[in-house]
Amino acid sequence: MTIVRGWCPTAWAPMAAGDGLLLRVRPPFGRMTIAQWRVMGEVAQEHGNGAIDLTSRAGLQLRGLAPATCDAARGALIAIGLVDPDPVRDARSVLLAPDWRPGDDTHRIAAALYDRLDDLPPLPGKVGIAIDAGAALTLADSPADFRIERGRDGGLMVRADGQATGAAVSPGAEATALIALARWFVASDGIAAGRMARHAAPLPGWAIGTLAPAARAAPPPIGAHPLGTAIGLPFGRIDASAALALAGLPGLTGVRLTPWRRLILEGVAPGTAGLPRPDPRLLAIDACVGAPACPQASVATRSLAIRLAPFVTDRLHVSGCAKGCARALPADIVLTGRDGRFDLARHARAGDPPVMTGLAPDQLSALFGSIACAP
Ligand code: SF4
Repeated sequence: MTIVRGWCPTAWAPMAAGDGLLLRVRPPFGRMTIAQWRVMGEVAQEHGNGAIDLTSRAGLQLRGLAPATCDAARGALIAIGLVDPDPVRDARSVLLAPDWRPGDDTHRIAAALYDRLDDLPPLPGKVGIAIDAGAALTLADSPADFRIERGRDGGLMVRADGQATGAAVSPGAEATALIALARWFVASDGIAAGRMARHAAPLPGWAIGTLAPAARAAPPPIGAHPLGTAIGLPFGRIDASAALALAGLPGLTGVRLTPWRRLILEGVAPGTAGLPRPDPRLLAIDACVGAPACPQASVATRSLAIRLAPFVTDRLHVSGCAKGCARALPADIVLTGRDGRFDLARHARAGDPPVMTGLAPDQLSALFGSIACAP
């Protein structure tokens, strides 16, 4: 078994974290059957510490696995179709607009791409593909290097990250365009740059276009959804016992993973008994795992976020370090851990220049409380 330290673990290359091995699962099409969901919960419970995290690319991370049982965990996930038996194929990152319907453009293009995963060249672990072919864009703020998305003219287009516009692509040619773009990226030394947005080489002519992307749509709200019910997961986490309880909800036909710390429970009616109802204030806070689970962190993050939640009205981001794993976009207030304390910045990303530095958790509680109580 290979163990890597870094930021793109897979099921075949788990990452050593402060709470044990971290194993990432990318369910095909971002959808899990009830049987898959149940097995994932059982694996997390039996082989991990029970913590399951939903990632910003709609993947799942099982935490706290021991080296001795990691192979057994992976084997169970392969057997149920959640992990590809080929480590190279398993490492491919394909993100779909989660509200796809069978046979629609998003589903059709993804199916064509999954059929041709072996045609993609070896890519850096962070490089990903997004398929966002609904009427409006839902993945515009989600990280991806190569995209198929709806254009403002109603057609489909291919767009490389960092480009404001894309090139039209004909129906049926979308997967070929993505593969060609990925091959160009490798052939033009994109691997040295790491990500498409940092790659300075001029795009091939066929990938340059003037089509503007379609309008954006907001992520689906918590509650009723055309596919069932959307639920929020505070900090993107669900415990294995809670996950297994979801598997028994009446009406459930499948689980869609989203990049917004929300699950869409297919077939479940809003108001169904047993649906989790987390504190909505926690859903407005982004907080990474922090210490001790992340070796990069010198501060505990989620316990502070819970303490501050009653006083928070703006978007708050509590980050264990300047990497800002929990939120790539700016937040109204961001607290960044540094040497056991926090720096505070406004309308900023983690690690941006702060307006206050060296704040202890107790100072922050008092500060947030005084602001909330101010007349
Ligand atoms: S942002 Fe949080 S999870 Fe990411 S490396 Fe820093 S401490 Fe770890």
